[in-house]
Amino acid sequence: MFHNLCTIDLLYKRPKKDVGKNQASSYGVELTPPFKNLLDTSVFAISLHICSTSCMDRTIQIQLHPTPAQAKLLADTASQFTSVFNAVCRYGWDAHEKNGVKLHHATYHQMREQYPDLGSNVMIQARIKATEALKSAFTWQDKKEKAYPKKVAKAQKQGKKIPVFKPVQCPSADFCPIRYNERTSTLNWTHQTVNLSTVNGRTLVSFTVPDYCRKYIGSPRTTADLILRKGTWYLHVVVSVPEPVVPQNETVIGVDLGLNRPAVTSQKQFLGNKRWKEVDRRSFRLKRRLQSNGSKSAKRHLKQLSQRQSRFHRDCDHVLSKQIVASTPPGATIVLENLTTIRESSKIGRGKANKNVENKRKLHSWTFAQLYGFIAYKGQERGIRVEKIDPRHTSQTCSKCGHQARNNRRSQSLFLCRSCGYCLNADLNASYNIRDKYIATSLALFGTSLESGLSSTSLSSQASA
Ligand SMILES: [Zn+2]
Repeated sequence: MFHNLCTIDLLYKRPKKDVGKNQASSYGVELTPPFKNLLDTSVFAISLHICSTSCMDRTIQIQLHPTPAQAKLLADTASQFTSVFNAVCRYGWDAHEKNGVKLHHATYHQMREQYPDLGSNVMIQARIKATEALKSAFTWQDKKEKAYPKKVAKAQKQGKKIPVFKPVQCPSADFCPIRYNERTSTLNWTHQTVNLSTVNGRTLVSFTVPDYCRKYIGSPRTTADLILRKGTWYLHVVVSVPEPVVPQNETVIGVDLGLNRPAVTSQKQFLGNKRWKEVDRRSFRLKRRLQSNGSKSAKRHLKQLSQRQSRFHRDCDHVLSKQIVASTPPGATIVLENLTTIRESSKIGRGKANKNVENKRKLHSWTFAQLYGFIAYKGQERGIRVEKIDPRHTSQTCSKCGHQARNNRRSQSLFLCRSCGYCLNADLNASYNIRDKYIATSLALFGTSLESGLSSTSLSSQASA
C-alpha cells in the first residue's frame, strides 16, 4: 500500500504540466464498463486517482515588508542574479547554444568564482531562466530569417522600398526577477514570513496576502519569483491547487474578436470597451510621429510609450478574458479564431477595403497569445476548455445558409447575405460561424458519440439566432 502511495505521488505531479497548458481533456475521461472491473488493480486505481485530483497552478502576488537593510540585501542579490542571467545569455548567444546542461557546464564554475556569495541553487535558477530566454530568442530569430525573403519579394512585387532586416538581439535584462524554489526559500503561511536565500545568507521577511487570494493560503507551492515594482517588493508565488470537478457539457460558445467591439460571443454578448480601439489608435499615431522625429528624446519617449502600450493591452486582455469567462457557463467550451497565423494564412488583407479590416483586427490579434492564455487560465477554475479554429472565411460566410462571398459583409458592422438575405451584426455572424465550424470539426473527429448533444445545441442556437 505504501508503495502504491509513493507511485501515486510520483504520477500525481504529471498532469499538472498538461493542465497548465489547458490540454487536460484526457484526464476527464470516464472509464467504460469493461474496465470498471479492473479498478481494484493498482494501475487503474492510480489513473482514477489522477482523474479525481488533477491540479492547476495559480500565481498569487504577496507583498513583502523588508526592513531597509533587508531591502538592500534583496537588491544586491537581484543585481547579482541579473548579472549571472546576462552573462549566461551572452555566452549562449555567442556560442549559439541553448542546451541547459551544456550551458551549465560552460558557465557554472566561472560564475561561482565571479559571484561567490550567490547560492549555487539560486545561480542555477539564473541559468535556467537564461536558457528559457535563449530558446525563445533563437526561435524568434529563425522565424524572422525565414520570413525575411518573403517580405523582400513582396516589397519588390509591389514596387515598395525593400525593408531593412532587424536581427534579434541577445536577450538581456536590467532586472531579472530571482526565481526561488523549495530549496532556496521557506514560506510560512501561519506566521506570514518567508525565508529567502540572499548574497549574505538567509533572511526572514514578513509578508501580507491580498484578500482575493486568501483562499489559496496553505496550498503547496512550487516556485516564487521576486519582483521589484515601484520600490515595493513582491513575491509571485505559484501554488498548486486541486482543479474543481466540473462535469463537461456540450455547450460551445464562439467568440469573435471583433472589429466594432473587442469581443462578441455567439450568445449575443458584446464584451469589452469600444473606447480601447481609440486609445490604441492614438498611441499608434503618436508612435508614428516620434519615429519620424528620430531625436534622442523621441527615442526615450518611444520606449516609454511602448511599455505603456503593452501595459494597456495587458489590462484590456485581463478585463476581456474575465468578461468572456464570466459569460460562459461552467463546463462549456470557448472557441476562438486562431489569430497567431492570420497574416500568413489568410487572404483577408488583400484589396484596399479588406486591408482596413485587417488593420483593425490587430487590436487583439497581436496580443492574441496573451489573451488566449488569460482565457485558458481563468477558464480552468470553472472547468471551461478553450479551443482555436482556422479563422478563414468566418466573417464572409452566412451563418444561416452557408453562402460565402466577400461582399456579404456590407460594412464593418453589417452583414447581409447575398443569397438568402439574412441580415445581422457582422461580428455576431462571425461568432456563430466560429462556433459552428468548431462543432463541425469535432463531429468529424469524434463521429457519432457527440452528435446528439452537439447538434441539438447547434440547432437550438441556430433557432435562437
Ligand atoms: Zn445566407
